[in-house]
Amino acid sequence: MNAPTMHETCPICGHGGLVVLEVASHLRYDVCGKCGVCIKHVESASAQEDFASSQNAYYEETIEDPFAEPSAIMRERLAHRARVLQRYIKPGSSVLEIGPGGGQVADWLLRNNCDYLGCEISKELTKRLKARGIPVVNNDFEMLPSVDAFDLVLSFHTIEHVPEPQSQLTKAFSIVKPGGFFIIATPNARSWEQRLFSKLSANFDVGHLHVFSPRSLVMMAEAAGWQVHASSTSEYTSDWLRILSKVLRRFRNEDEVASAGKYSRMAASGGADRAISLISAVTAPLRLVQASLGGGNEIVLVLQRPNAR
Ligand SMILES: [Zn+2]
Repeated sequence: MNAPTMHETCPICGHGGLVVLEVASHLRYDVCGKCGVCIKHVESASAQEDFASSQNAYYEETIEDPFAEPSAIMRERLAHRARVLQRYIKPGSSVLEIGPGGGQVADWLLRNNCDYLGCEISKELTKRLKARGIPVVNNDFEMLPSVDAFDLVLSFHTIEHVPEPQSQLTKAFSIVKPGGFFIIATPNARSWEQRLFSKLSANFDVGHLHVFSPRSLVMMAEAAGWQVHASSTSEYTSDWLRILSKVLRRFRNEDEVASAGKYSRMAASGGADRAISLISAVTAPLRLVQASLGGGNEIVLVLQRPNAR
């Protein structure tokens, strides 16, 4: 399919061969054949409006917990985050997290005696986090003052949502101390799920304005001045389960946008933990192989701000 696209050339690598991928009737992406980035066709007048409307739909207008999922899945993700984070923190490390979400990483960092601050754009989520005693400011990350004050900045599944991902990389660079780190986790456009079943990939989501490949993310990071310290992929039990849930929703003719999250909430309340733990144990070796070959559904990129010379 070679329809004309909104972006004639790739804004990241300059390649001219962007191809339209129609995931669903209201969900299309321009896919770069060179660096692999996928850029969503925005439904509103601008990416900024698109971002605002999906933020509202997800986090401000819902009374249900937008992060509800089976605790086995939550534990698995946190254990992986902790394995990565423990290499980059020590007691007293100053850490800023963009979009703390449900606050699991915040809790872990506070337990490990870090000097933690969350930056949350949603008023509703800020209220919930503060009520739990987590230090958080209600602000747009890109509006924070550019003072190099932090040892570590974290962006776990936020960069795919923001209209200007390059600005997030530039802002993070300006608030990290020289020699400090920026860790990004985001869906992987080169995962096995996405390469094999692109139209069923959960990475294509109304809230995801970009889906990055490792290569496209590294190109953007280097343009902002970062050095790549480590790059890997991770694969969670939930990743292939999401593909199954999408097949099920298509089979039942359910609206994919409206029903997104419904199954994870059902599983969260239905005590599916034992089944998921079993699936997790059985699939662990396969997932390890997938992740180590770079095909995991999540990119984990650790960037370092070079020391001043
Ligand atoms: Zn490109």
